[in-house]
Amino acid sequence: MTIENEKVIAGLSCSDVLARLSDYVDGDLPAEERGRVEDHLRACEGCARFGGEFAATVRGLRTHLGAPASVSGELKDRLRRALDDDGAP
Ligand SMILES: [Zn+2]
Repeated sequence: MTIENEKVIAGLSCSDVLARLSDYVDGDLPAEERGRVEDHLRACEGCARFGGEFAATVRGLRTHLGAPASVSGELKDRLRRALDDDGAP
């Protein structure tokens, strides 16, 4: 995606923030980085809008789908077989 008028806030550029969003939502960022992302989001309207939507979408999907760990390889295999077997008796 293209970012217009990229800004550097709290030591992170908009691309840096966007690159860290999924880790941020996952809670995988170290506290210090997390704080910088939050500072950037507070001060940057573009990232706040995008980041807020992104976080809401991810949270909504997780709530809807349940824990990611529940989507096991076995379930994927069963789904694939079900699709392959379409039309079989
Ligand atoms: Zn930004």
